[in-house]
Amino acid sequence: LIQLYMPLNILGFAYREIKQGLTDTEAMFTLLGEPQEVADAPEATPLVAGPGALAFEDVRFAYRPDRQILKGISFAVPPGRTLAIVGPTGAGKSTISRLLFRFYDTTGGRILVDGQPIERVTQHSLRAAIGVVPQDTVLFNDTIRYNIAYGRPGASEEEVVQAAKLAQVHDFVMRLPDGYRTMVGERGLKLSGGEKQRVAIARTILKDPRILILDEATSALDTRTEQEIQAALRQVSANRTTLVIAHRLSTVVEADEIIVLQDGRIAERGTHAVLIAADGLYAEMWRRQSEAVAMAEAAAAAQVAA
Ligand code: ATP
Repeated sequence: LIQLYMPLNILGFAYREIKQGLTDTEAMFTLLGEPQEVADAPEATPLVAGPGALAFEDVRFAYRPDRQILKGISFAVPPGRTLAIVGPTGAGKSTISRLLFRFYDTTGGRILVDGQPIERVTQHSLRAAIGVVPQDTVLFNDTIRYNIAYGRPGASEEEVVQAAKLAQVHDFVMRLPDGYRTMVGERGLKLSGGEKQRVAIARTILKDPRILILDEATSALDTRTEQEIQAALRQVSANRTTLVIAHRLSTVVEADEIIVLQDGRIAERGTHAVLIAADGLYAEMWRRQSEAVAMAEAAAAAQVAA
């Protein structure tokens, strides 16, 4: 009986371990609010490590056959560079990041990471190479430490603190009653959007991916929070190939290339200076946002004076 029991016991242990792994992956997908629709190709091999070059080649995509969302998108981001994607709501900006993370397969064209078509590599290896700082991070019902260390399970206390410092969230954590042991999430302490985003940045710094997707928050932030987040973002995107889904144009000024999406196509592309000089769609968006910012600042100043 013992001979029979032992392997079963080991199996039970292995099952729990695997289940835990699956649960965490599923939890992550649920947290990201994305379905899992793609499967590994039978001959899929792990992504071969490289410097992090990224390319979209005539990428087409539709969620439903009757409505084309991306109608032939091409761009290349050299290793370590930043590409910003701007455009009106519904233009397909987030769809580009979902395709890169391979939540869906393209309906035409190719996406290449370090020269390798992403549908031919294992999803696990692809997702290990890409870090995502989402617009609205949902935290696990666990400690702050767990939520940061999730980026690299097994990270030491020192590594977690170092990442939190770079992400400008360490001082905030130190002011909490239980520091890094403070419970957060729906059933714990609720953090503001900016605080949650900095936790996500710390998590990504620990994960140390070669490609980064930043999905900027649409919500307006106060100037101080905005500055802290900008500093955190600069840390995480330094020397990393970065795709920014930009909602606030202030963050795209420094991008190496900006693409303006409109109706599933690239309407304009270039650096900030080039696009301003072109005086087209981007220049118009820039003018409108600058006016909105100036008005908000004037209103805030009037409130202080009153
Ligand atoms: P925003 O700036 O508002 O975030 P976006 O440019 O990121 O917009 P996407 O989220 O990429 O836009 O969406 C592009 C289009 O695809 C939208 O019209 C949207 O309604 C549609 N869409 C997005 N997700 C799905 C889905 N899962 N199923 C069907 N249509 C979808």
